[in-house]
Amino acid sequence: QVLNDLLDLKGNIRVFCRIRPIITGENFGRFRLLSALDSSNVLLKFADNNKSKTYSFDKVFSPDSTQDEVFSEVEPVIKSVLDGYNACIFAFGQTGTGKTFTMEGTQHFPGVVPRAIEALFKQAVDSNRAFLFSFSMMEIYLGNLKDLLVPHPTKPTDCMPPCLSIRTDLKGEVEIENLVAAQVSDLKQAMKLYRLGCRFRSTAPTNSNITSSRSHCLIRLSITCHDAPERRRETNKIWLIDLGGSERVLKTMARGRRLEEGKAINLSLSALGDVIYALQKKKGHVPYRNSKLTQVLKDSLGDDSKTLMLVHISPKEDDLCETICSLNFATRAR
Ligand code: ADP
Ligand code: MG
Repeated sequence: QVLNDLLDLKGNIRVFCRIRPIITGENFGRFRLLSALDSSNVLLKFADNNKSKTYSFDKVFSPDSTQDEVFSEVEPVIKSVLDGYNACIFAFGQTGTGKTFTMEGTQHFPGVVPRAIEALFKQAVDSNRAFLFSFSMMEIYLGNLKDLLVPHPTKPTDCMPPCLSIRTDLKGEVEIENLVAAQVSDLKQAMKLYRLGCRFRSTAPTNSNITSSRSHCLIRLSITCHDAPERRRETNKIWLIDLGGSERVLKTMARGRRLEEGKAINLSLSALGDVIYALQKKKGHVPYRNSKLTQVLKDSLGDDSKTLMLVHISPKEDDLCETICSLNFATRAR
């Protein structure tokens, strides 16, 4: 393990960038402004003054990258979980840039979530050790934690189950009180729970892409090893997180509840950016307390953890401002 860490020169936080393809029928603007220069650089060209800028990443996926290609780069993080690390995989980006496509995928193009779960089960079987898996799913909406495996009323007048609270135990491990952790023994069971959880999202009734981006959706897979060698932690967890859309609220001209939702998301995304920045710069103080999102992930973002940030950007000229914001967020995280 120590040798592994020494060899792991790249550190514990990786930032990848995925450029969404133009979808049939969509207009990308007057000219193509974004391209993958090579496997680790994104080239941004400005139309007006012929200037360009390059952004570097640990990995860049061009619009024609497949789900297979993405997962093969994500897999090492999955593997580290059974080696004793906690891990977080985030999908970041403006609404419509492919976060859910990357994480959940579609029936024909499964994404990181089903592939990660499948890989973990397979790895557990191959290791010949006894592992127990449990699946949890929650949402952070307007700064509140909601268990997505507990039925939520659809009418606003109905009584809502209470929001969950976060505690940190003496060992520094985060505990989310009363969060359902359902034991699962194969991918099918886990995906059944996942689909159930999706139905209970705050925004499920309309089910439109815009509204489902107003909250963060977090899946936690906890893996307990019964015959772990002494030096290892007994339970490790991996978080698979589809973050709320990063677009700024002013642009969307949101009012009322929409505005509140947007503000809550922006606040927590900048808190997440601050935490990752502090970790990268090895600052003594890491500001976990500034949002529920970072409080929840406190023991999974840091020294003994692996973090993967998948930043999604749009190829459209109209989205240029948001694209630059996302690229800047990503640059700060590296
Ligand atoms: P987000 O979750 O960021 O709001 P989505 O994942 O819903 O965005 O993607 C928006 C649309 O673009 C969806 O119809 C999705 O299927 C499609 N899409 C996104 N990324 C890709 C991709 N890499 N290849 C093909 N289609 C994609
Ligand atoms: Mg989405």
